[in-house]
Amino acid sequence: MIDYFKESAEKSGLILSEEMFPKFEIFYEELLETNKTLNLTAITEMKEVVLKHFIDSMAVTRFYDFSKKSVMDVGTGAGFPGIPLAILCPSARFVLLDSLKKRLNFIDKILEKCEINNVELLHGRAEDFGRDEKYREKFDFCVSRAVAAMPVLLELCTPFVKVGGTFLSYKSERLEEELKTAGLAMKLLNCKLSAEHEYQLPDMDFFRVYAAFEKEKITPKKYPRQAGKPKREPL
Ligand code: SAM
Repeated sequence: MIDYFKESAEKSGLILSEEMFPKFEIFYEELLETNKTLNLTAITEMKEVVLKHFIDSMAVTRFYDFSKKSVMDVGTGAGFPGIPLAILCPSARFVLLDSLKKRLNFIDKILEKCEINNVELLHGRAEDFGRDEKYREKFDFCVSRAVAAMPVLLELCTPFVKVGGTFLSYKSERLEEELKTAGLAMKLLNCKLSAEHEYQLPDMDFFRVYAAFEKEKITPKKYPRQAGKPKREPL
């Protein structure tokens, strides 16, 4: 697995140091083992995990430098993109948030086994932590992959970002359609689309699009609305 990972990382223009590779191997083995009893991922074949989980999570660093920054991962699930990013960027501080405790218990085991020291885990809803002074407007970046449609995501994620910071949404090729539905949310939440970066995974016909939103002014106090409302009644 390490050989294939090294080769794919190189093709993707990602630079990892030697001590990082065994951490990914442990993460992969634990993911497979825990996935037997807990639904963590539908992707289990080695090459697919390397590309669609590990490389995909990290490729955003070709466009953004996380060194010494604070990063919130909303709806991290089994730790994507947060854990690969935390291994790759040891000087950054990460907070991984999810409402499913069992998935966070899995990540906790990974943090210990892989000796990852720059990650805090948060159990609960993004809507609740987004109103908590300790986390609201405290992050340089917020990242999120496969969690919700764009207007919902903007409401869940932008409250965590400092003014001038960036929310990075991992999306597929259908970004244009999603963006069409997000105009009002961007306006109400004081953010604007600042960039779109397209990226192709090596050896695969799989395109990732990162949509970057810059936060221009503080989030109005009424957002995020109470838990469940952003999804039930998207802005
Ligand atoms: N980001 C991971 C990935 O790309 O593999 C997990 C994606 S999974 C489809 C979505 C995750 O978001 C789930 O683990 C779910 O519990 C979490 N989630 C959804 N809505 C949430 C919310 N409002 N607050 C916190 N977590 C949420």
